Amino acid sequence: MTTQHQHPVGTGPAPDDLVVLRPEGLYCPEGDFHIDPWRPVERAVITHAHADHARGGHRHYLCAEQAREVMRVRLGGVSLQTLAWTESLSLGAVRVSFHPAGHVLGSAQLRIAFGGRVWVVTGDYKLAPDPTCQAFEPVRCDVLITESTFGLPVYRWEAPERVFADILDWWQGCVRERQPSVLFAYSLGKAQRMIAGLTAAGAGTLPGPLAIHPAVEPINRAYRATGIPIPDCEQWAPASGRRLKPGTLLISPPAASGSVAFGRESDVRLAVASGWMQVRGARRRRAVDRGFVLSDHADWPALNQAIHASGAERVIVTHGFESAMVRHLQEGGWAASSFATEFGDERDDEAVRPESGS
Ligand SMILES: [Zn+2]
Repeated sequence: MTTQHQHPVGTGPAPDDLVVLRPEGLYCPEGDFHIDPWRPVERAVITHAHADHARGGHRHYLCAEQAREVMRVRLGGVSLQTLAWTESLSLGAVRVSFHPAGHVLGSAQLRIAFGGRVWVVTGDYKLAPDPTCQAFEPVRCDVLITESTFGLPVYRWEAPERVFADILDWWQGCVRERQPSVLFAYSLGKAQRMIAGLTAAGAGTLPGPLAIHPAVEPINRAYRATGIPIPDCEQWAPASGRRLKPGTLLISPPAASGSVAFGRESDVRLAVASGWMQVRGARRRRAVDRGFVLSDHADWPALNQAIHASGAERVIVTHGFESAMVRHLQEGGWAASSFATEFGDERDDEAVRPESGS
């Protein structure tokens, strides 16, 4: 759900707002920095390393310490400063600090304090348990800028351990049929959560070998370098010329799904793990056999829970079903509005091109 063509809705900005929308992205005038900007800027404060939030081309980057390794994988040798959780830093006239967002490794909410007022920018977040990143922590604030990727009541997630059990069942079925299987999951965050979740759900015995697309390996290494234990997996590239062995489950980025090699492997079973699988038709559009509803974003109840927990009186919604969420919040008594941002939903979060195969 890209939102760049939508217009902001709800209450307009006030002159002393700590965060405003500029053509380059969200901007803090008192601190003179941008937050997850989509055009090159002098100082970019980054909530997390997904490509639609951590873009190349900025002069200086600031992110949470836990994101350092994944940021390096994504952006290379950029000028990068990091802060430990809750450690604060003066930028211009404001104090900033990072607080866990529970979305992917190192994902942070940004707290901005100035003149007795506190604003929080959530970035992407989830409340569901995930052993591969620091759990979301509510941060009290006056104004909350929240993502709303799945901001409709239809989006409600099951407990992740149930989803992992379902995936193990499906994989077991593929093993019985002597078929290889591919599960599409974003290379940063979802793939690691999948590997860790399946390993835990299988309690040490998986139905067959677990393999990864080579695009996932550098991220796995970054997770391990940050202290998150991701088991070693065999690498398999669609263009390698080798066949995927029966019984193997390959974790692959969705961007590789167009690979001709998967098409040649006509006995391969395909599945995708994504919050979008909640809605009928999404699986058919992706042309896969199975869709598992597993998201690294908050579902509708979790979005509402997080907004309540912030204590904010004013909420600005970005990235998602803004007008529905704004209306819902206004009916609940909040001063609510939206920013039309250019964040994607990780569909465009893949460094790998379909035919690269490397
Ligand atoms: Zn993200």
